Amino acid sequence: MKAAVYYGPSDIRIEERPEPAPAANNLILEVSCCAICGTDLKLATVGNPRCHPPRIIGHEFVGRAVHVGSDVAGFAPGDRVTLATTLACGTCAYCALGLGNLCPNSKPISYDFDGAFARFVAIPPLALAGGNAIHVPASVPDEAAALSEPLSCVINSQELVGVKAGDRVLILGGGPLGALHAEVARALGAAEVMIVQRSEPRLSLLRRLPGVTVVDGANEDVLSIVQEKTGELGADVVIVCAPARDAQEEALRYARKGGAVSLFASMPKDAAGITLDSRAIHYGELRIVGASDSRPEHVEKAVRLLHEGKINVEPIVTHRVPLDALLDGIGLMEEKRSLKVMVYP
Ligand SMILES: [Zn+2]
Ligand SMILES: [Zn+2]
Repeated sequence: MKAAVYYGPSDIRIEERPEPAPAANNLILEVSCCAICGTDLKLATVGNPRCHPPRIIGHEFVGRAVHVGSDVAGFAPGDRVTLATTLACGTCAYCALGLGNLCPNSKPISYDFDGAFARFVAIPPLALAGGNAIHVPASVPDEAAALSEPLSCVINSQELVGVKAGDRVLILGGGPLGALHAEVARALGAAEVMIVQRSEPRLSLLRRLPGVTVVDGANEDVLSIVQEKTGELGADVVIVCAPARDAQEEALRYARKGGAVSLFASMPKDAAGITLDSRAIHYGELRIVGASDSRPEHVEKAVRLLHEGKINVEPIVTHRVPLDALLDGIGLMEEKRSLKVMVYP
């Protein structure tokens, strides 16, 4: 079968690979579609030592079961399945705390196991044991289902930072994940959702999201717009989706007293130091929380919100490419010309 294989930084090849082997303890899915993630973009540029080459990449997908091992319970041929990417070990102290997303021994699909930029993907026993394989009901279209993994990371962030009905939410950074954050905040009942982006064509793409205030961060005064939209208080929650020092530092200025900031985007390893106004945190009783990855329960919540029609990903999938054109799709993301790009194997 044709597959996208990571060999090292800037070295992703579309080539023939053997189909995954059916076993008594695995599941094999025929991939319907698989979205390009920011981590795929990183692999295609600077690389990632956690990804062991040669490795088939791609982890935001949905597929149909074509093989169900005789030892596998709860699945039948034809079932539609998506996946919580991070396979936790299930035995360490973090797993015991219920924090499998922070498991130091985790083995993510597309890093330690072959991923879904291919016609078929195997779901290994570790994923089945961890409850990572999630059923998708017929009501959820393929492209929406494929985005349940990035949505799950967004849900983890918004749960940790405490987004609730009536909140005024500000999102800094209008890439694909910023757009998904806007959808989830609306689904959770946020009264006002603002998203700041600095460049076209993403500004125009974001304006297609219903019920979202899009702010041109390069040409508009973000603080005065936030003040105007929040009765001069500031946002209840600020979510930083831009991997940028200035965005993380500025986030405090936009939050109301007693509000919270989610540092959702990760900074480069060698440039992660930032300067925060301690007085703003102290006197403003601000909470600053991290968010990393997700657990199967978050993917289940994403699928439920999609099933209930509370999240619409249609305006967020802006481009579709065949597997042969994966690198063109990655280029679209690198040049910030797209939101989500969906790959069809
Ligand atoms: Zn991803
Ligand atoms: Zn663990």
